[in-house]
Amino acid sequence: MTRPGKRFEIRSETPLALEQRYSAHNYDPLPVVLTRGKGAFLWDDADRRYIDMMSAYSAASHGHGHPRILAALEAQASQLAVPSRAYFNDKLGPFLAALCKRTGLDEALPMNTGAEAVETAIKAARRWGYYVKGIPHNKAEIIVADGNFHGRTTTIVGFSSEPDYRDGFGPFAPGFVSVPFGDLLAMKRAITPRTAAILIEPIQGEGGIIVPPQGYLAGLRQLCDEHRVLLILDEVQSGLGRAGDWFAFQHEGVMPDGIVLGKALGGGMLPVSAFVARREVMAVFTPGSHGSTFGGNPLAAAVGFEALRVIEEEGLVERSRMLGEHMFDRLRAIRNPALRAVRGRGLWAGVEIDPRQASARDVCLRMLDKGVLSKDTHGTVVRLAPPLVIRKYDLDIALDIFAEALNEAVPSGQPVAA
Ligand SMILES: *Cc1c(COP(=O)(O)O)cnc(C)c1O
Repeated sequence: MTRPGKRFEIRSETPLALEQRYSAHNYDPLPVVLTRGKGAFLWDDADRRYIDMMSAYSAASHGHGHPRILAALEAQASQLAVPSRAYFNDKLGPFLAALCKRTGLDEALPMNTGAEAVETAIKAARRWGYYVKGIPHNKAEIIVADGNFHGRTTTIVGFSSEPDYRDGFGPFAPGFVSVPFGDLLAMKRAITPRTAAILIEPIQGEGGIIVPPQGYLAGLRQLCDEHRVLLILDEVQSGLGRAGDWFAFQHEGVMPDGIVLGKALGGGMLPVSAFVARREVMAVFTPGSHGSTFGGNPLAAAVGFEALRVIEEEGLVERSRMLGEHMFDRLRAIRNPALRAVRGRGLWAGVEIDPRQASARDVCLRMLDKGVLSKDTHGTVVRLAPPLVIRKYDLDIALDIFAEALNEAVPSGQPVAA
């Protein structure tokens, strides 16, 4: 243990060694030390350039250091940053208005991280269940999907199906039921008079970029209408252009009762999240019933507002759709015995690798070596999700390198047709 306040010499050790020594080991990073970023590029401590095919799990969808968002951040930081919500501020209203107009929903509750906004959605669903639907007190149920990822609070990991996320963190909050993702019949069977909401990702991100069968979201909407259940979509990763639409729910033309946003809402600069919902749902919150010291601060609001404007004015949704189609054409043309499936939409692909042929982490390490940053999910899926501002030219280089890395990772690999 270090004695509190003891002076120590840190200059002689590398940042990597210090991080390994002093950080809790709740991550297993790839061995590269990043020092700066611009657009779709990142640089390491030896000034080596990488193409970012990760986008910080979609938090950097606008690219790194976007000039307009940076300008908004700097201007607001020197004006007013964190006055608390004990007062109104001049940036929150315009930001939330833009968010509601964009989503087609009525009211928004600003938070910071995705997990907090999911917690907000859970609270809203439960209160709505008791106050509006009339579910007996403390009996509300929320239905979620197997393989979900909604964040890391104890309540949220309590309904995860991933042992690593749960082990040793119980006891968990009751009131959640999990059914297979993409299975409408299982969902229908799980609904009871005590069901307040279905909480689901329209495309499962951390679960391996799993796209449900066409018609699933529309089917969920219909079930929710029939049984008076809220449809709450977690678009923290799928939203804001990532999946080739502003929001993934638009792909099937459904309207949810509430959505959860985060990651890209912070423009690659700050944690900014929100729960956005119909008025009837949001009306359950009264002063004192929920809050966050930093949520809705003017610095975050100014950055979030500019993040939305940049998506709109730079046509990032269209870019995601068009470049995404190109990316999927190229990925589907790869012939490699280890490639089991290519899934996703927009600029968001998960490539499933046969673990008997190659490890997804090994593929990512080889890509790193060749100047492309990605990260495996679940040890078997390589994620390809560049900033939406990436140039087609750089995307093509990254895809060439992915095909090359995959080829080299499979000892018995046949030549790749990319
Ligand atoms: C990342 C993520 C979250 C959690 O966001 P944090 O900001 O890490 O708390 C929630 N839901 C989904 C779908 C996510 O991908």
